[in-house]
Amino acid sequence: MTEAASTSPPQGKEQPIKASEIDPKFKYELQKMHGSEKILKCFQCGTCTSDCPVARFSDSYRPRTLIHMAQLGLKDRVLNSDTLWLCAACFTCTDRCPQDVEVASVIRVFRNLATEKGCIPQVFKDQAQSLIETGYAYKIPDLRIKKRESQGLPPLPKGNPDAVKKTLKGVAFFDRVQKPQGEQASGKQ
Ligand code: SF4
Ligand code: SF4
Repeated sequence: MTEAASTSPPQGKEQPIKASEIDPKFKYELQKMHGSEKILKCFQCGTCTSDCPVARFSDSYRPRTLIHMAQLGLKDRVLNSDTLWLCAACFTCTDRCPQDVEVASVIRVFRNLATEKGCIPQVFKDQAQSLIETGYAYKIPDLRIKKRESQGLPPLPKGNPDAVKKTLKGVAFFDRVQKPQGEQASGKQ
């Protein structure tokens, strides 16, 4: 797939850019972070987007565009972008970038920064909360449990939330998710 096949512009490109939005230091901050050191080597060839399996099925997810936005200093647009969370971390982009930009790692850095700002899509907050509470990424609905019982199926194995909490202790994403909603910085819910 080529980017020309996209039917709608990637998120963040729809609105005109205001000078006040630009943070000229953002790219230099990224250069100091593990995984995004080579972000300024990107010359916008589009190989990452063309070979990305997620971009193939999404009209809005474009790793090249996210990197371009970061190079331009559009920090808030990058960190508030829902599309950031579509990356499947398959590393195809990293393997194929002719400039050795670690694209998948750059996306991870963006996600970490977005997490620090509290910009986490609600679906991931819900999954993390469920994992912490039940040991499962998805809460099994009571209706489904009852249906299993009515059909004579054995009970589902119990999750181990304590082990999950122990494993995830200190992981910023989960710490963030566990904080009360009011304490989180403004961002997407
Ligand atoms: S493949 Fe590399 S150089 Fe090309 S647009 Fe993507 S990050 Fe930039
Ligand atoms: S790591 Fe993410 S951005 Fe890179 S090709 Fe895979 S899904 Fe696309």
